[in-house]
Amino acid sequence: KEVTSRNFIEQAIDQDLADGVYDHVCTRFPPEPNGYLHIGHAKSILLNYGLAQEYHGEFHLRFDDTNPMKEKSEYVESIKEDIKWLGADWKDHLYFASDYFDQMYEAALKLIKKGKAFVCDLSAEEIRQYRGTLKEPGKESPYRNRSIDENLKLFEDMKDGKYPDGSKVLRAKIDMASPNINMRDPVIYRVAHMTHHNTKDKWCIYPMYDFAHPIEDAIEGITHSCCTLEFEDHRPLYNWVVREVEYQMPPRQIEFAKLYLTNVVTGKRYIKKLVEEGIVDGWDDPRLVTIAALKRRGFTPESIRMFVELVGVSKANSSVDYAMLDYCIREDLKKKAPRMMGVLHPVKLVIDNYPKDKKEELEVPNNMENPNLGSRKVIFGRELYIERDDFMEEPPKKYFRMYPGNEVRLMNAYFVTCTGLKKDEDGIITEIHCTYDPKSRGGNSPDGRKVKGTIQWVEAETAVLAQCRLYENIIDEDKGVYNEDGSLNLNPDSLTTIDDCRLEAGFLNAKPYDKFQFVRNGFFCVDSHDSRPGALVFNRIVSLKSSFKI
Ligand code: ATP
Ligand code: MG
Ligand code: MG
Repeated sequence: KEVTSRNFIEQAIDQDLADGVYDHVCTRFPPEPNGYLHIGHAKSILLNYGLAQEYHGEFHLRFDDTNPMKEKSEYVESIKEDIKWLGADWKDHLYFASDYFDQMYEAALKLIKKGKAFVCDLSAEEIRQYRGTLKEPGKESPYRNRSIDENLKLFEDMKDGKYPDGSKVLRAKIDMASPNINMRDPVIYRVAHMTHHNTKDKWCIYPMYDFAHPIEDAIEGITHSCCTLEFEDHRPLYNWVVREVEYQMPPRQIEFAKLYLTNVVTGKRYIKKLVEEGIVDGWDDPRLVTIAALKRRGFTPESIRMFVELVGVSKANSSVDYAMLDYCIREDLKKKAPRMMGVLHPVKLVIDNYPKDKKEELEVPNNMENPNLGSRKVIFGRELYIERDDFMEEPPKKYFRMYPGNEVRLMNAYFVTCTGLKKDEDGIITEIHCTYDPKSRGGNSPDGRKVKGTIQWVEAETAVLAQCRLYENIIDEDKGVYNEDGSLNLNPDSLTTIDDCRLEAGFLNAKPYDKFQFVRNGFFCVDSHDSRPGALVFNRIVSLKSSFKI
């Protein structure tokens, strides 16, 4: 492999292997089961899994369920499903951090016995005050010099439920004058009389994240623990824990930048808010960027992998334009998805010189750019539907589609010339009339006559009725994510539902998650919740036009 193309994490791993720090690579993805995974997590999953693959190492999935307050087992299944869907495989390396509570307790005892941890009776507020600020050092707790025996006794009593929540904590004894505030005797265990989803009522003391996480990594033999930048300041504490608990092969923490997307809500906290307030239709509403939502909207694992690769790993936080995600799914589907005809806003087109009871089948390629997708037969007849805005009674200059007297091509079918129209009392066009040139079958005329406009159509009698849902960003791009009062600045037009779309008969058997290009209208996916045979529902994944250049 070329050295120049290696990211900073790969370079660090290469160095560790060369120096003999480790002789293999083991990574992990450690989600907290407190919500659904989103596109940011996909970056972390694919990064960690990718490293394990690249170095022929192991990849662990570990549920970081040490906080009994927020976690629910209901999220565990969705997380597993999403990771599998992305193509990351933890094989038999599925772990729960709560399974290590005994070892964490033992580790705490070890620290106490080494004189490296003490039970502190200060309140949370006092601890905060004593901690000091970036400019001034902290103040030592009056309980800091308790004897080892007293600490052992008190810690055991904490475990045995003798103290109420918040009355006592176990703290690491490090350095109250450290310039890194995380090192000023951080709390490592707290009392919380809560039922844990896994260990039930076995424990009433729970380890803090900064203590638990390095232990989890060390127990599993993780070599490289990749996490996001906000943990950079916690690394000295991470290293302190694995050193003082005396693990044989201490893991190494490496930080990378979080993935942020513009114009969408990425934080679990905000997504939860949208779900709980009923602003969106659940965690997998196609306007969200949870993995479940992206899947429902019609994104493919390949498109997300491409996206994550394009974004790359870096040490600097930045936001990526959502348009890049659109670009990736277009790239992935343009040759994979069949291109079929659908009309979102139908108006009748009647071909007056076409025989009344005749129908014919036209052979149409499924994807002009990919002959491997073969061809299909499309029914043609006297009455069709076309897109309402493919007709104008009084066209402006350079309008090449249908208007009285103009000839256009019905895609893959015939040339037709508009002869007239019908309107209802309100002046709405109800029917457009035309004549066709039978010699132009297939879409070309033998006399070499050219037409400028080509439009799609659907035979009226055999057309499939469908609902199509079009999406826009849920946040109004121009005005930013938040209003002045801190509320989310929602785009009122983020969902448009069109109920009477007409699709060619070949759509009849479309199944959930099937993906198509509707020619001229974008890429669409059959909705997995609401679509039924006979009442199809499609989500527009993305339109065909792109402003994004690479
Ligand atoms: P959120 O803030 O969205 O709730 P989180 O960090 O609390 O995310 P966890 O379940 O704790 O969610 O995250 C599991 C892993 O995913 C962590 O290693 C975390 O660093 C990583 N991760 C979370 N968000 C992102 C992101 N936006 N980009 C890259 N990695 C992320
Ligand atoms: Mg977290
Ligand atoms: Mg979180």
